[in-house]
Amino acid sequence: MPTDRMLTVEEAQQIVLDSVQILGEERVPLSQALGRVLAEDVAPKYDIPPHNNSSVDGYAVQAEDTNDASPVSPCRLEILEEIPAGVVPVHRIAPGKTSRIMTGAVIPGGASAVVMVENTVMEGKHVQILKPVRSGQNVRYRGEDVKTGQTVLSTGSELGPGEIGLLASFQRSFIAVMRQPTVSILSTGDEVVDIDQALTPGKIVNSNSYSLAALVKEAGGRPVSLNIARDTEEEIRSAIQSALHADVILTTGGVSVGDYDYVKKVIQDLGAEMKLWRVQMKPGKPLAFGMLQGKPFFGLPGNPVSCMVSFLLFARAALRKITGHPQSQWHLPLITATITNDLTAGGDRRHYLRAHVVYEDGLFFASTVSGQGSGMLSSMSGTNGLVIVETGISSIVEGTQVSVLLMRSVW
Ligand code: AMP
Ligand code: MG
Repeated sequence: MPTDRMLTVEEAQQIVLDSVQILGEERVPLSQALGRVLAEDVAPKYDIPPHNNSSVDGYAVQAEDTNDASPVSPCRLEILEEIPAGVVPVHRIAPGKTSRIMTGAVIPGGASAVVMVENTVMEGKHVQILKPVRSGQNVRYRGEDVKTGQTVLSTGSELGPGEIGLLASFQRSFIAVMRQPTVSILSTGDEVVDIDQALTPGKIVNSNSYSLAALVKEAGGRPVSLNIARDTEEEIRSAIQSALHADVILTTGGVSVGDYDYVKKVIQDLGAEMKLWRVQMKPGKPLAFGMLQGKPFFGLPGNPVSCMVSFLLFARAALRKITGHPQSQWHLPLITATITNDLTAGGDRRHYLRAHVVYEDGLFFASTVSGQGSGMLSSMSGTNGLVIVETGISSIVEGTQVSVLLMRSVW
C-alpha cells in the first residue's frame, strides 16, 4: 500500500523508475531506426573506405617524380588511363607515368599520391605537373575511417542521423534495437466526448487522448488510443482490461476524490500493486501509479495540463528507461534561466509554471504565461519550459535565476 504522505516529485519518480525495465529487443529496417536505441554492438565486416581512393580530381603519381616540379619547370608524365569513380584501374603507375583519376576512384597500384587537377596542364597523352606532392597526399586509405571488426557503435547508443549513415555504410539494412512499448491511452469521464462527436450541453472534448498520444510518440512509445470510458465501474473495468494488451497503460481522469472517480477502485480490484496516489506538485497532485498484472499503470489526472505535466515528469521518464536510453536522458533537461517577469506561487506543493524559454548570447531567459490554471491547455501551446517554484516560495521577482525543465528544444 502506498504511503498516505504526499510524496515529492523526486520520490515518486524514483518509485516509477525502479518499477520499469527494458522490454527486450526487435529488429527494424534501418530506415525506421531514427531515435531508437541499439541492442547490439556493431562492427563492419569490411574496411571503410574499402579501398585506397583519391580525395580529389587529378593525377595519380609516384610522389618522388614530382619533387622538382614547378610552373617554370614542370614535370612531364605519360597518361596511362582514366580512372572514373567505381572502376578498377588496369595499369600500375611506374616512374614517369600517371593516370587521370576522379574523386573517390581507386588509387592504382604503384601510385603514392594524387596531384590536384588545378596544379596540372594536360597535353594530349601527357600532363605537366606544376607542383610537388608528398607521399600520401590526397589519398584516403582503406580502413582509415573504420577497420573490419572494429566496434564503433555499442548497445545503448541512440541512433541519430550520423549513426544511421554509418550503419548504412556497413550495409546493415536491419538492426537490433530495444523494443518500443505499446502504450494504451484510456480517457474516462461521462462529460467527455470525442473529437468528432456532438458537443452537447455539459460536455467537453477529449483532448487528453490526443495530447497523450503525441507525448507517447515523442517519448518513443507506440500509442494505442481506446474509446472513452463512461464513469461506471463496469465500463472502466472492461476498458482497463482491454488496455492490458499494451505494455504500458495510461488512463486520464477519475483518480481524484470525486464521487465518480472509479479508476483507483477498479485497478485495485484487478489486483494492482499500488505504489503511489498523490504527488506534491501543482499542476498534477492526483497521480496513481502501480503495477497492474506486471505492467506499469499510470492513472493521470483529468485536467488537461495536469495530465500532460504528470506524463512529462513520470510516464515519459519511464518510457525513456523502457526504450533503453541512458539514465542521463530519462528526465527532461533541467536548466537555469533568468526569469523576465515577476511571479507568484505558494501553497504546499511545488509549482511547475508554463513558460517560454529563449537562448540568447549563451544565456537562458524564461517568461511564464498568464493563464496557469490546470485546465488551461493554451498554456501548453507554444511554451517549451516549466519554471519550478519550490514549496514555501510565494513570489519571485524579475531577474531572479530559476530552475526550468525544458519540455521542448529552445533552438
Ligand atoms: P477528473 O479527474 O475526472 O475529475 O477530471 C478533472 C477535469 O479534467 C474535469 O474538468 C474534466 O472535465 C477534465 N477532463 C477529464 N478527462 C478529460 C479529457 N479526456 N480531455 C479533456 N479534459 C478532461
Ligand atoms: Mg472524471
